[in-house]
Amino acid sequence: MQVPLLDLQAQYATIKEDVLRQINEVLDSQRCIGGPKVEQLEKEIAALCGCDFAVGVSSGTDALLISLMSLGIGPGDEVITSPFTFFATAGCIARLGARPVFVDIDPQTYNIDPQRIEAAITEHTRAVMPVHLFGQMADMDPIMQIAGQSSLAVIEDAAQAISSVYKGRRAGSIGTCGCFSFFPSKNLGGIGDGGMVVTCDEALYRRLLILRNHGSEPKYYHKFIGGNFRLDPIQAAALLVKLPHLDKWSQGRRKNAAYYTKRFEDTPVRTPAISPDCVSIFNQYVIEVPRRDELLAHLKEKQIGCEVYYPVPLHLQECFSYLGRGPGDCPQAEKAAGRVLALPIYPELTDEMKAYVVDTILEFLD
Ligand SMILES: *Cc1c(COP(=O)(O)O)cnc(C)c1O
Repeated sequence: MQVPLLDLQAQYATIKEDVLRQINEVLDSQRCIGGPKVEQLEKEIAALCGCDFAVGVSSGTDALLISLMSLGIGPGDEVITSPFTFFATAGCIARLGARPVFVDIDPQTYNIDPQRIEAAITEHTRAVMPVHLFGQMADMDPIMQIAGQSSLAVIEDAAQAISSVYKGRRAGSIGTCGCFSFFPSKNLGGIGDGGMVVTCDEALYRRLLILRNHGSEPKYYHKFIGGNFRLDPIQAAALLVKLPHLDKWSQGRRKNAAYYTKRFEDTPVRTPAISPDCVSIFNQYVIEVPRRDELLAHLKEKQIGCEVYYPVPLHLQECFSYLGRGPGDCPQAEKAAGRVLALPIYPELTDEMKAYVVDTILEFLD
């Protein structure tokens, strides 16, 4: 049996007609930049998050970049973030000439450990950028408290956590702003690149709008140096079709996660720890196992898709060697990088597929 890590065709088959109809509306209107689809999606995502404002942008990476830009973060500034995340989180900080400051993770949730943040704050710190990894939100209450004490902005990297819940609040709605990605493998994925920033801060919202369009306000008068960070209306059209299904799809992932977790009980497989404060959307279902690399090779041989997110913590990436950090600086992130393995969790998995995944893993570990 073949079980891919993700099967986007299975999902597309269920919504194909609707997607084609929505895209055709964009084509017929020839409103090819911005327009009603983008505005409608912004309205719906803001409502989903319980935020006043949303700004559609060109990718999750650009959502992070434009958020940092709109807060005026640049050379001489420091931004505290997690070393155990996709590269874009820290890449955006560094691209603006600011310094990413890596704080080790909580080994249970893989999210930034709030207890270690305070010691990393200096007179140069401007913001904290928690990442809601694998679909579970970081422990936001202590993060907001520590940030508030030092007047730091909080940018939620919610690329993997749209509609995820922490103590009754949605990802993106707790910090100064929240950033989403519509990369096709995210829970709400477009048919190409796309992203969104949500915020309740109106002044920040105005700056985001201006920066998205080359910093121009009014047209051809440039107060800031912005860029072209616009969301494509074709993406918005496809996302408007998918958004009403998001809850059901995340529910399907949680159901699959519950199956795996039950089957791995009392085995050497460590299953994801979901905090009682959180409802995860399981963008990934990540286990920890001994002999991880051997298991990875074995599963590939058995035609089961799996992946290591992430094999090299960011403080050990070659491009960040100038930061002067090294092995042993973030031991929990380093340990996780050597042990984690993401399994197929997408909602269209069949019972047979899930059983095959578990049986194959348990046979290997036996
Ligand atoms: C996917 C992702 C991003 C980047 O989003 P893109 O849309 O691919 O640019 C940023 N941060 C995290 C944690 C992500 O998973």
